[in-house]
Amino acid sequence: MAPFSLHPAIDNGFSKGDPSFRGGTLRCLCERDPVELTLTSNVAHNHACGCSKCWKPDGALFSLVAVVPSEKLSVTANADKLAVIDDSATILRYACRDCGVHIYGRIEKEHPFYGLDFVHTDLSDDKGWQEPQFAAFVSSIIEAGFDPSGIDAVRAKFKELGLETYDALSPPLMDAIATWTGKKNGKLPA
Ligand SMILES: [Zn+2]
Ligand SMILES: [Zn+2]
Repeated sequence: MAPFSLHPAIDNGFSKGDPSFRGGTLRCLCERDPVELTLTSNVAHNHACGCSKCWKPDGALFSLVAVVPSEKLSVTANADKLAVIDDSATILRYACRDCGVHIYGRIEKEHPFYGLDFVHTDLSDDKGWQEPQFAAFVSSIIEAGFDPSGIDAVRAKFKELGLETYDALSPPLMDAIATWTGKKNGKLPA
């Protein structure tokens, strides 16, 4: 098995976040005039994601992605460099035109995660962000070209890091989506 990188921020282990942490600053990778994002709270549901849509650092198989309430997020510098990369997607991903980093993703339609924005805390130098909780959409890296014979080694590496692996989101998040859908369909009491 050739060496692989899940994500540079977790390959060699990671430390726990600080529950009293109150947010910080994220920046795109531009050396000049980076886009700056300020969060006024910690993030939740931080996880490694293998889907093909999330932004990943060069060479990483997974992104690290978390959510924060939309009202806790503001673009505080160089907002003019941001553009939505695909306006037909459910999550509108605002990326830097120069370096390609996704600064944040937002949902503008009726959806179980409406009101939450998606962010990558590895774009921040601040310490205290919630640590990753699980790995999602693991099998999806095969669709992006990862050799399927190596997928067991990928799952084993996550286990070694203490992270459960799933091929969708984690059960609590899948349950939350199903509950929202059941209420919307009138199958569950609203
Ligand atoms: Zn940039
Ligand atoms: Zn993803």
